[in-house]
Amino acid sequence: MDLNSPLYTITGIGSSLTIKLKRLNLNIVGDLIYHFPFRYDDFSKIAPASEAQIGEVVTLRGEIWSIKNIYTRFGKVLTQAIFNDGTTSLQLTWFNQSWLAKQIQVGDKLQISGKLSKYKSKLSIMAPEWERLPMPGMGDVDISGLHTGRLVPVYPETAGLSSKWIRGKIAKILPDMLKKIIDPLPPSIQDNMLPLDQAISQIHLPKTWEQVEKARERLGFDELFFVSLATQRARLNWQKKPLVQEMKIDPVKLESFTQKLPFKLTSAQKRVLNEIITDLKSNRPMNRLIQGEVGSGKTVVAAIAIYLVHLNGLRSLLMAPTEILAFQHYATVSSLLQPFGIKVGIYTGSKKAARDCDVIIGTHALLSLKLATENVGLIIIDEQQRFGVEQRTYLRSRAKLPHFLTMTATPIPRTVALTLYGDLDLSIIDEMPKGRPKIKTYLVPERKRLDSYKFIEKKIREGDQTYIITPLIEESETLISVKAAKIEYQKLQKIFPNLKLGLLHGRMKANDKEEVLKDFRSNQIQILVSTSVVEVGMDIPNATIMVIEGAERFGLAQLHQLRGRIGRGTKTSYCLLYTSDASPERSRGVSSENSRRLKYLETTFDGLKLAELDLKIRGGGEIFGVKQSGRFEFKIASLSDLGLVEKTRQAAEQLLAQDPMLDKYPLIKARLEELASEVMPD
Ligand code: ADP
Ligand code: MG
Repeated sequence: MDLNSPLYTITGIGSSLTIKLKRLNLNIVGDLIYHFPFRYDDFSKIAPASEAQIGEVVTLRGEIWSIKNIYTRFGKVLTQAIFNDGTTSLQLTWFNQSWLAKQIQVGDKLQISGKLSKYKSKLSIMAPEWERLPMPGMGDVDISGLHTGRLVPVYPETAGLSSKWIRGKIAKILPDMLKKIIDPLPPSIQDNMLPLDQAISQIHLPKTWEQVEKARERLGFDELFFVSLATQRARLNWQKKPLVQEMKIDPVKLESFTQKLPFKLTSAQKRVLNEIITDLKSNRPMNRLIQGEVGSGKTVVAAIAIYLVHLNGLRSLLMAPTEILAFQHYATVSSLLQPFGIKVGIYTGSKKAARDCDVIIGTHALLSLKLATENVGLIIIDEQQRFGVEQRTYLRSRAKLPHFLTMTATPIPRTVALTLYGDLDLSIIDEMPKGRPKIKTYLVPERKRLDSYKFIEKKIREGDQTYIITPLIEESETLISVKAAKIEYQKLQKIFPNLKLGLLHGRMKANDKEEVLKDFRSNQIQILVSTSVVEVGMDIPNATIMVIEGAERFGLAQLHQLRGRIGRGTKTSYCLLYTSDASPERSRGVSSENSRRLKYLETTFDGLKLAELDLKIRGGGEIFGVKQSGRFEFKIASLSDLGLVEKTRQAAEQLLAQDPMLDKYPLIKARLEELASEVMPD
């Protein structure tokens, strides 16, 4: 057996377990070794029961004096045992594991771990972890216990595969498999971190918390290092690809185009446009990411690029993540480009009018459009984090190497972007168009709700419009979220009987959505009740108020993106945040943790700062939409550790500078092959 052997080569793993393991994405022995614990139970304190305190988590060694099942009136089974460790007797209770009464017998010597408590004046431990003494079959792993009496690793589990089972299997194969692990990192990069085999050993079976830390340091380094290496190498490869057609830029036509825009480009827009022009003129295909806050004006930059490509006789595709957004882009781009005789088409699930067009705007439906491969010089993907890797790269792979432009409003710290998107050139629009008023943002206490409804009504009488965003119930638009939106809509119809309300959610038919949006755009609808689908891209300048219900369910950066839908014109705009946590502190006016977090929105208007606050407060990669994009999965590394992100990127850069083909490092190269498909499948 080695790291590449299928899991059934491990004794005791048959076909039904193989299926369960697959659910955890575990297929070969190496996967199991790389299945890391997500936390540890600290059962390392071993003491006699007589010396332990109530409430303390301890490990005891002793003997079972009695054991039996008790059936409760509610159909539950309790297994109760008397356990004596030579100093004291105590009661052990397990819930709904009736088989334990057979597995454990009177006279058995066990080691148990759990929290000491007092129940009906008896010393007891509820649901203790247990194992037999002495431990059988542990090979040469030097431990006094595996499931008790130590720092016990807790693993991601699935139905029928408990953490205990996983722990047992890993501990059993670990000693042999560690011998087969070869550290791919050269000593210069390893620096003073643990060697790989030791790190893996310690992540599974640490003796101390310090060992856990050291192991995480090394394994986190590897995760980020390889991603950085993969994206940087993809970039080098991409740069080598020849272009189908070099483009010429006509400065006079460009100038007269920008002259005709209803506004002057900001200097950030001009800078990014110039970066794009440099790419278009060069003889290698562009692969660029435009990052710019909501409302910073990415669309117009994209439209200009489309125009320039058109002047070279080539077509462009623009793909958006939702139909709503595709229709909006269609309207915007048409109004900008049609005066120049450019034919703009639309291609979505419900609307297909793309024949003989110079530009086709659409959703992922574009992926199946045959036309989308012909004579295409530029592919643009808006809100790219919403697409999976395959979707993002598929068009490009079919369309024979055109220029490739992706756009995102997700604020990602530069350091992190350079790792995650190291294969792309980064352009940042870091300036908002002039004259945009700050959006006045308030966290509104529940008792002021009626006042804000009065305020909304008054503003609407003056001609303004309002969004009301209903709580995000699950990550994606589920039926539950839709139902919540419908209920809110009905409630609001009673509150505003004289106003025109509309409802928008992700499960509506495209035509209905378009209808609602058209009515909102033309002020036929004054209040738009919507799920957070409007988060993406909507641009209706007359909407000046946004109410967000259940604000605590969103990240700060996400809320910032949501409120970016208002404040698009020159009128003062208002964002009113409500929370649904009716904790007693809140009604007394003392701010809860959530309120404290949300308060940042009242004073901070920098998406990147808010994203960093999110990271500090909530941690994790999902905030950057990393999880969503499925681009890379980090089990250990935290993207909030900017120091580590930077360090790994530099290490990757140095290695590539020294040996671009990685010929001296076959092991690193092999590891990269696995990741390469996540960066660029074509
Ligand atoms: P996003 O970057 O979020 O995609 P959009 O491209 O939708 O932003 O632009 C938001 C709004 O700002 C649009 O109404 C657009 O017409 C307007 N806009 C874009 N650039 C400028 C500018 N330089 N000056 C004034 N308004 C602008
Ligand atoms: Mg946009």
